[in-house]
Amino acid sequence: MDLILLILVIVYPKKRDRIAALSASNFPNVPQDQFEHWKRLELLSYDIVIRCGIIWIAVEVIGFFIVGHYVFSLAVAALPVLLILLGVSAVYGSKAAKIKKAHGIVIQKQQREPLVEAPYQGPQCVACAAPIEAGVKLCHKCGWTQPG
Ligand SMILES: [Zn+2]
Repeated sequence: MDLILLILVIVYPKKRDRIAALSASNFPNVPQDQFEHWKRLELLSYDIVIRCGIIWIAVEVIGFFIVGHYVFSLAVAALPVLLILLGVSAVYGSKAAKIKKAHGIVIQKQQREPLVEAPYQGPQCVACAAPIEAGVKLCHKCGWTQPG
């Protein structure tokens, strides 16, 4: 159980972000209200699992260091709550899945944004602004003599 939650806490935020980044304009064939509804349900489903997982793990870690051993009674008391919340998350998730299926929403891995070249900040020729190596006397491009 702990291991599953730990994996979910690591994996889910990325998936959640991917969904959060989607907008209705990515899916021109999906009615906007349906898209928004789906997105809300999907995010809610992820959020519940992520928060439960973080709280659960935090309680266990804190309990372990304060009490010195696994807080069994606390875990037993909290487990039903955890399971109910995960169940709620699953309900939202399945509702979201229905909308997703009905409208053919396909989540593609985000396309990598083209790398924006960082503006050149090294030494430049005083005459033509071509990038030059530090200490070079003559510009290789225009032949201008560099000061300093
Ligand atoms: Zn130059």
